[in-house]
Amino acid sequence: MAAIGKQGIGVKVPFALDNVGKCLCPGCPVQAQSKCVSGLKTTLAAALKDKPLKREKVPGVYCSTGKATCSDLDPKKSCLCGGCSVFAQFALAKGQPAGYFCRDGAPK
Ligand code: SF4
Ligand code: SF4
Repeated sequence: MAAIGKQGIGVKVPFALDNVGKCLCPGCPVQAQSKCVSGLKTTLAAALKDKPLKREKVPGVYCSTGKATCSDLDPKKSCLCGGCSVFAQFALAKGQPAGYFCRDGAPK
């Protein structure tokens, strides 16, 4: 369990396979029309064998890795992070930013 302070999230979200598996970003409307993300999805199975994982090959877990490397996302659509189990586990609602990590970077 993460140690949670009153301000901020306290513990960085690990860029790890279990969190990639829980992440809702691959199904997020913000990424739905992205050709860059579509391409990454086609190579994701191989990318998940990298040790360590490479952030530019994984279209998600931006709460850990920070801003997306793909530049064709559409942040006018709704972020799904609030419904994600990683978001709950690390109390990301207490951080800044508290969503749209693909656009605004990882929370503090
Ligand atoms: S960080 Fe939020 S807005 Fe960005 S892709 Fe993930 S769920 Fe969607
Ligand atoms: S909180 Fe958002 S960026 Fe982090 S794992 Fe969940 S859906 Fe992905």
